[in-house]
Amino acid sequence: MSKYLFSIKTFFVLAIILLCSMQTMAQKKYTEKDLAALKQTLMQTVAGKSKDVQVMVDQIFSFAELGFQEVETSKYITSVLTKNGFTVENGIANIPTAWMAKWGSGSPVIALGSDVDCIPKASQKPGVAYKAPIVEGAPGHGEGHNSGQAVIIYAAIAMKELMEREKLPGTILIWPGIAEELVGTKAWYVRDGYFKDVDACIFTHVSGDFNSSYGDNGGNGLVSVRFDFEGEAAHAAGQPWRAKSALDAVELMNVGWNFKREHLKPTNRSHYVIVDGGDQPNVVPSKASVWYYFRERTYEDIKMNYESGIKIAEGAAMMTNTKMTHQMLGTAWPGHFNKPLAEAMYANIKKVGMPTWDEKDIALAKGVQALVEAPKKDQQGNPIDGLNSTIDTLKGSVAFSWGGGSDDIADISWNLPTIVLRFPANIPGTKGHHWADAIAMATPIAHKGSLVGAEATAMTLLDLFTKPSLVVDAKKYFKEVQTKETQYIPFITKNDPPAIHLNKEIQGAYRSQLEKFYYDPSKFGTYLEQLGVTYPTIKKP
Ligand SMILES: [Zn+2]
Repeated sequence: MSKYLFSIKTFFVLAIILLCSMQTMAQKKYTEKDLAALKQTLMQTVAGKSKDVQVMVDQIFSFAELGFQEVETSKYITSVLTKNGFTVENGIANIPTAWMAKWGSGSPVIALGSDVDCIPKASQKPGVAYKAPIVEGAPGHGEGHNSGQAVIIYAAIAMKELMEREKLPGTILIWPGIAEELVGTKAWYVRDGYFKDVDACIFTHVSGDFNSSYGDNGGNGLVSVRFDFEGEAAHAAGQPWRAKSALDAVELMNVGWNFKREHLKPTNRSHYVIVDGGDQPNVVPSKASVWYYFRERTYEDIKMNYESGIKIAEGAAMMTNTKMTHQMLGTAWPGHFNKPLAEAMYANIKKVGMPTWDEKDIALAKGVQALVEAPKKDQQGNPIDGLNSTIDTLKGSVAFSWGGGSDDIADISWNLPTIVLRFPANIPGTKGHHWADAIAMATPIAHKGSLVGAEATAMTLLDLFTKPSLVVDAKKYFKEVQTKETQYIPFITKNDPPAIHLNKEIQGAYRSQLEKFYYDPSKFGTYLEQLGVTYPTIKKP
């Protein structure tokens, strides 16, 4: 009996010793000097992956896929992740092109995300400072979302190598901003629990600047809603009095909303496209649809405008004796980002510094700025002239904003500590959502900008995996500052499906033509080489 007791005792003592040693391993302490040396190593590892970064940036550029149709993009990226030891769950949140990739184990759990979709009618040859579509009318990367995955993936792979060597515990997740232009997925990922056990999230987005920020970024949130009207067809000349025009309802709704504009706050941004206006003039349209983005600065104001939109649509249906239904297609909250994480990222941005631009990069930038008649100064009053060579200051919450764009990363940022790294892979002074924004996106400007982005991301990962206090501080800011008075209330319900049908027809119409131009890195050093573009080409020959 006593012998038996002794062995139990020995077992517990041994177990405690083992647990304690595991604990010390997990809490391996690094001095600032150790960390500085590790960061140096990490930066060199990422720099050694510059070829991989270029290939990924060019490859995704060549796929040119719109939101929810990122089929080739998704296949390609997940295969790179799998080859590098990540386990991939495909089709998350019932979105076929979405995934969640995972490597490592234990805490902290750090998620890295970036968008992948492109812009309609933005097909453009890179490196050419005049309109030269690869495929006329086709989608193209006129936002630069082809660059962000290389930033996070090669940062993660470099960090993974270091974690293996240093035996650091922790989990890295990599996920895509599918259909960001439709703000169509991130609120769904949150709703379906994919960020439930994540400690912090680093999101990256292409920019002309190299920075991060915290607090209220001054952007708008939105709801994206399609209104469908159904009436009755009739011969438009023979017996128009027997028709109920769905198109009339769409037009009356637009008139109603445009009168409403006078009584909206100046921070409102709302816009619409008529996605179905009927088939031909001699048939009174029995079906018609209009698609609205209602944007505002706060949850309350977005909700108010959304409700007004529905009321006006009901009014239009009543006037035309048609039936109206509406469907939520996308949503984004107004953005708010984490201060301790942004400070950590900014310190690393300063260590990395801006890329070294050469004469060719600057010549292309100036050519594009002349082409788009870029303003002389940006909204902060900084000059726009070629490429940025200095790093902006770290900015906190805006005191006031007239409103602006949106990104559904905000839905993640209201659920866990999140920041956005803006990396300098595009030319300042462009219009956004335009073919000219694609010009730099498969050139050395995008390659160099993505590489420095990856370096800063890798170093911030190192901070998160080696300094437990950073995660603690990030959570404290999230709890005690960010969400002290504001509670996240999603605009989507439990039942709203993701709008995965969007863009199917447009992408389908161009896919076979675009396929001929997919980048083949086994044959060509760069996509510029494959397309036979002399970098840069400023004037039309
Ligand atoms: Zn974007």
